[in-house]
Amino acid sequence: MNTTPATEAEQIVRSLARTLTAPQPTECLPCYLDRVLRVARCDGTLRLAKRYRDTVAPRATALERRMHQSGGCCDCEILMNVYESKSDDVHPCQGTRKGSTSPCGLWRPVRHW
Ligand SMILES: [Zn+2]
Ligand SMILES: [Zn+2]
Repeated sequence: MNTTPATEAEQIVRSLARTLTAPQPTECLPCYLDRVLRVARCDGTLRLAKRYRDTVAPRATALERRMHQSGGCCDCEILMNVYESKSDDVHPCQGTRKGSTSPCGLWRPVRHW
């Protein structure tokens, strides 16, 4: 099979998407979601949160349950129901401990009354 310019472009887009959705070193979960959801749409699942967990904190197996319990049933809901930014500008991430799913100092947990 010949490689046409179209499939080459598709490959570039795909690898670009992979790069864009890769968690950065020390980037915290809400900063990661905030960054990636600007370029990728939430698909109604915790796809990105799982990707983050698998890459950064594979031992944080309770993450999904924790997110669900706080009202984060998909990636964008984590940024609405679980963590809220303290200011409008959440860049750059202040960083989090390796292997941790805690947010950096730019975020606070959403209070559920
Ligand atoms: Zn969503
Ligand atoms: Zn952060």
